[in-house]
Amino acid sequence: MSSFNTLYQQVVGNHYDFGTGTWAIDSNKIKMELDQYGTYHPYLVDKEYEFTEAEIELLRQTCLSTSTKNESDIAQSLFEGTDNIKYSPQLGYYNGLYVGHVLEGNYRKNGSSGGFVTWICSQLLRHDYIDAVIHVKESKQAGKLFEYGISRNELELDAGAKTKYYPVEYSEVIKTVKNVPGRYAVVGLPSYIMELRLLSEQDPVVKERLKFMIGLVCGHQKTTKFAEFLAWQCGIKPGDLKSINFRKKQDDAPASKYAIELVGIVDGKEQTIVKKMSDLVGGNWGQGMFKVRASDFTDDVMNETADVTLGDAWLPEYTKDSKGNNIVIVRHPVIKKLIEDAIDEHLLQVDRTNEETIFRSQSSHFRHTQTELSYRLYCKDKRHDWRPQKRVVAGKNISLIRRRIQDKRSEICLKTPILYQHAIEKDSLDYFLKEITPLVNSYKNLYRIQRIENKIHRILKK
Ligand SMILES: Cc1cc2nc3c(=O)[nH]c(=O)nc-3n(C[C@H](O)[C@H](O)[C@H](O)COP(=O)(O)OP(=O)(O)OC[C@H]3O[C@@H](n4cnc5c(N)ncnc54)[C@H](O)[C@@H]3O)c2cc1C
Repeated sequence: MSSFNTLYQQVVGNHYDFGTGTWAIDSNKIKMELDQYGTYHPYLVDKEYEFTEAEIELLRQTCLSTSTKNESDIAQSLFEGTDNIKYSPQLGYYNGLYVGHVLEGNYRKNGSSGGFVTWICSQLLRHDYIDAVIHVKESKQAGKLFEYGISRNELELDAGAKTKYYPVEYSEVIKTVKNVPGRYAVVGLPSYIMELRLLSEQDPVVKERLKFMIGLVCGHQKTTKFAEFLAWQCGIKPGDLKSINFRKKQDDAPASKYAIELVGIVDGKEQTIVKKMSDLVGGNWGQGMFKVRASDFTDDVMNETADVTLGDAWLPEYTKDSKGNNIVIVRHPVIKKLIEDAIDEHLLQVDRTNEETIFRSQSSHFRHTQTELSYRLYCKDKRHDWRPQKRVVAGKNISLIRRRIQDKRSEICLKTPILYQHAIEKDSLDYFLKEITPLVNSYKNLYRIQRIENKIHRILKK
């Protein structure tokens, strides 16, 4: 097998590829395409092309799963020298921690959480730190709902607010960055930001032009089929979904009990449908239906290489407000100053907070992505499978019930795309629901057992 094929098999063949688009920037012999399961992968433009060792090394060093540098290495080189910077093993570097929302304008109303991401980007534009923002917007291409795009003014920026639980890749927009001089900010999930940092180490033009990297927290990435499946349950058949708002705030419910809003064709007519996420199969994030498998092999919860990281304030004291709040981890002095100035001007409603509160807002995410990654790695090692090097050490030092929960999550993740593909071929949503229900039920049973075990432990402790 050629060196390229070996690398491709390690990363893409084994599902350790995040579909970011980096390899298609490294080489014009590679393009990004969605596979039949709705996940982006790199593909060869010319199957006969022989990559040189130098080209293969570039691919290796810009890929999160094969680079010799990890998130800690990159974050240290970026932030260690920043004034008043602190370090936490969980959150990474930070010079400011906040929880809250934007008071100014409609950022909070239009955003998924407190509206901070769009507000920060608009501040960077307004104060002339950047010329454009690279973020995720509705796609104009048929068959695709969302894609990375470039906004050059606040109107365009605002139109791209909201969380998209949908796969995207940045090869085309980063090629534009390379061709069109300017100062850019980019919004991205942890693997995307990390791969842009790795790319920046190899490509001085990208490094010079990407002035700010705005990170989102990401429980896991979803395939295109997630949106399609939610819509199918609402009566919109595959291919008939026109648009989706994954995070419609509900006035009468906590922020965590959001709904989805869909526009699509039902019985030949375009309709708008609103459904609570909790009423739909697939809305439980722990189960991980339609998860991109590579998400199970990152250990970066807090987007540690981003200049600022934003997420949902999943804390009871904040979720009771249906309008939404952010957690904010700041690492870049310019962003810190923008926030502090805006606090003084009463444009933001925020609490200055501590590591423990930020950690608590993502405690389940930390458990899955860091603590229990050790078991997923252990399983790979036991089978002598190739796997990426992680900052977490392989081991099975978690309880038996948590190991079974991890096994079930992996099973759901790996079986969902295949069962769903059969459902599409049979044109039968019922087929998918019938096949997935036993898996979901056994997952729920494991949680019942865990609750009983916890209760027994509490009684014995007394
Ligand atoms: C796939 C995914 C999983 C997430 N998981 C978690 C989680 O587990 N815990 C948590 O606390 N938060 C998670 N988030 C982040 C959260 O949903 C909000 O996006 C975040 O709190 C920012 O809200 P906001 O109101 O400040 O952003 P807004 O003002 O609504 O702006 C959102 C910005 O993010 C951009 N964007 C939307 N989707 C994507 C995408 N897929 N890739 C890159 N940029 C995008 C938009 O274009 C926009 O610029 C996730 C987000 C995504 C996309």
